[in-house]
Amino acid sequence: MEEIFRGIYRITYKLNQGDVPDVNSYLIKDLGILIDGGPQYPEAYQKLLRELISVNMTIEDINYVILTHHHLDHMGMINFLPSSVNVVADKSVKFYSQKEYKNSVNDFIRQIRVPYEYKSSISDILMDEFLPIDWEKHKLISYSEFNQSNFKFIVSKGHSSLDTIILFNEKFIFTGDILIPKIFFNCLIDISPEDSKPSSFKRKGYLDELETLKKLEFEFLLPGHHDILNKVSALKHIAITINRMNRTSKKVSSAIKKSNSFEDVLKQVYGQFLKYNIFLPFSDVHSILEQMDILDFYLL
Ligand SMILES: [Zn+2]
Repeated sequence: MEEIFRGIYRITYKLNQGDVPDVNSYLIKDLGILIDGGPQYPEAYQKLLRELISVNMTIEDINYVILTHHHLDHMGMINFLPSSVNVVADKSVKFYSQKEYKNSVNDFIRQIRVPYEYKSSISDILMDEFLPIDWEKHKLISYSEFNQSNFKFIVSKGHSSLDTIILFNEKFIFTGDILIPKIFFNCLIDISPEDSKPSSFKRKGYLDELETLKKLEFEFLLPGHHDILNKVSALKHIAITINRMNRTSKKVSSAIKKSNSFEDVLKQVYGQFLKYNIFLPFSDVHSILEQMDILDFYLL
């Protein structure tokens, strides 16, 4: 594994979802802490074990895995970890291990008026976020219970319904997928543990997250995918993202006036891109309709 700063290492894991870049997990060696656990494949866990050996550690030296958010590529590995590794996350993360989560996804899929192939790909992605973790085995510690003074946590929702910015030593921030270099599609739809409903003003939440990042004192941003950003490049990326979001909002609101279906709007705004991905444009348009308070445009 790569030592990116003194005592902080990055481990990257390949994902088998074609268009998602490798996911990062970070090791703070002296403290035996992992920031994010990585994906749910046995090969990924094997890689972690090998990487630990390369820095003279074993999995028994890991005390905590701290989660940035609940998405599977970041927390899927928990199922492989021994019970001696405590999980630090918002307690409501348990929602994604419960049957209620699956029911909520089904309820949502029933309500949306989009072509069948869209429905099935959206359903597949949301169902993938279901992660049956044995919470009897893995001790879940909330951010407030985890009191180590060199850590601070800011909990929000925007990229997902359960995002956490982790500040370490007043110098580093671990931001999960709130800001990913080269990617400008980060406001994703998911089901919130608060009300079991898809998002809830997440576009606003996402913009608030970016504003929070802008105001934070930090030197380096350590993202969930791709390379580390210094503060200047992080701020630049935030500005580009906000611009892009404003442009898309404008495009979507003018497309709505000319179309009578969600599918039409998607086609007008995203054109050829839809061949590659439905979920990202779908999330984007949903969040804009939600913000405009016109979800009934496509929900039954
Ligand atoms: Zn994510």
